[in-house]
Amino acid sequence: MTFLVNLIKVKGIVIKETTYKENDKIITLLTDDLGKIACIARGAKKTNSPILANAQYLVYSEFVLYKSRNFYYVNNAEVINTFYNLRVDLDKLTPIFDLTRMLNAITDENQDTDKILKLFLNTIYVIDKYDKDVNVLISTFKIKLFQILGFAPRVNMCSNCQNDLENNEIYYDYVSNNFYCKKCTSLDKRRYIKISKSTLIAIRYVLAVDIKKIFSFELKETSDFKLFGQVFADAMTSSI
Ligand SMILES: [Zn+2]
Repeated sequence: MTFLVNLIKVKGIVIKETTYKENDKIITLLTDDLGKIACIARGAKKTNSPILANAQYLVYSEFVLYKSRNFYYVNNAEVINTFYNLRVDLDKLTPIFDLTRMLNAITDENQDTDKILKLFLNTIYVIDKYDKDVNVLISTFKIKLFQILGFAPRVNMCSNCQNDLENNEIYYDYVSNNFYCKKCTSLDKRRYIKISKSTLIAIRYVLAVDIKKIFSFELKETSDFKLFGQVFADAMTSSI
C-alpha cells in the first residue's frame, strides 16, 4: 500500500520553539502563505539532525511540510538567513522577544501574513546588520504593523476641528486613536501623549512609504517617537 502525502512549500521564520518529547520540537512559523502555523519538527533536537538549524528561534528558511490530521510536520528545509548577529548580542535580541510575542498574539493560521512577514524580516535584518537605535526601529515596526492590520490613525489634521496639526501643539489620544490640536483635547489629560512636530512628520513618513523604505529617516530627538510606537501598539493590541 502506498500513502500519498501532499508536500507544501512555504517560507517561514521561527517565532517560537518548544521542546516536544525527547528529540522533537514544536516550532511556530510565521509564513508567507499559510499564516502562523505550528509544526512538529521531528528529531530537531538531535545534533546530527538535518533540520537542527531550521528549527531554531529567528531562523528563516524555506520549508517543505506535510499535514497529517491537525498537525504540520517538517519534511525538510533550507536556511535562507540565520540572522547570526542577533543571536550573539543581547541588546539586539531582547527587544525582538517582545516583537515575536506580539506577532504570536495577533496572527493566526490561514491569515494573510505575507506583508507582516516581510515587515518583520526587514526589521530584524536592519537590527542585525546596522548599529541603529533599536528602539526607534522597534517603534517603526509597530507603527507599520498596525497600519497593515488596519489601525492607521489619521495624521493629516486635527480629528476634531480639522485644522493643520503642524501649527499647533500635537496630542495623540490612544483611546480613540486620533490626533488632536491642543484646544480640541478634553479635560481628561491622561488619555493623551504630547508629541513633537518632527515626530508627527516621522510617523507620517512611516505610514506613507513602502515597507522597504520605512527605516530611511533621521530623527534628532527620538523619545516622543519611541513613546508613540509603544503607546500606539499597546492600545491597538488590546483592541484586537
Ligand atoms: Zn483641533
